Amino acid sequence: MPELPEVERAARRLGKAALGKTIASAKAIHPALKRKLSPAQSRAVRGKRIDQIERRGKHQLIHLDSGDTLVVHFRMNGDWEIGPASAPLESFARAVIELADGTRISLVDRRALSSITLDKKGASSLPKLGREAIDPSLDADYLSAALKRKKVAIKPALMDQSVVAGLGNIYVAEALWEAELDPRRPAAKATKAKLTRLVEAIRLVLSPRKRRPGRYTETRGVDRFAVYDREGKPCRRCDGVIERIVQAGRSTYFCSGCQRG
Ligand SMILES: [Zn+2]
Repeated sequence: MPELPEVERAARRLGKAALGKTIASAKAIHPALKRKLSPAQSRAVRGKRIDQIERRGKHQLIHLDSGDTLVVHFRMNGDWEIGPASAPLESFARAVIELADGTRISLVDRRALSSITLDKKGASSLPKLGREAIDPSLDADYLSAALKRKKVAIKPALMDQSVVAGLGNIYVAEALWEAELDPRRPAAKATKAKLTRLVEAIRLVLSPRKRRPGRYTETRGVDRFAVYDREGKPCRRCDGVIERIVQAGRSTYFCSGCQRG
């Protein structure tokens, strides 16, 4: 599933290919996406210039010179395929934006769960989003206030995009391990000291280059993470074994040996 670093990279790639350019045509191909971007909306973006690409949480916002905004969410499998409009269309292309310069941007998604919608000028379909996971303004004071009103454990609370925008299942688990925090503890009871550690941990796990040496094997794809998807494997910090539990319908990986905070 694309998480914040992947969505950030995708938005940058999109910006490189599309910023300042004019949309020649845009259309949804898959029926599920056609329900989200109607033919009338497709016509409304034709001839409009792409003025700004913005990421908010895992949403990509394509701001047009008309004031309207195309809002894209990759969900589980989405990605951009960018190339010349003359190339054969990717078989999993679910929506396509062609630019006046001959570039084709395809929203590819094997499972067709991605979405692309059009927000009219002045309107926003975005859900309430908290501070960005990688924004310097994310600090223990903010987290403390945001978590005070949550009646769930800290792991599902951190997955709530209205608390922290952009944090997903993988990096929440990784950050809780880094900060040595138990994912099952009530969110509202986390102390400022713990949340200070957590904020540092969130920054650390979202910038792989900053990861402490020795804790991660940098083999691509295999055990890239400290806990995520490592059920039954040894903890890299203590003698414990990584466990998997389900919280709010999602898998949580953690080590009960050292995540005691
Ligand atoms: Zn451990």
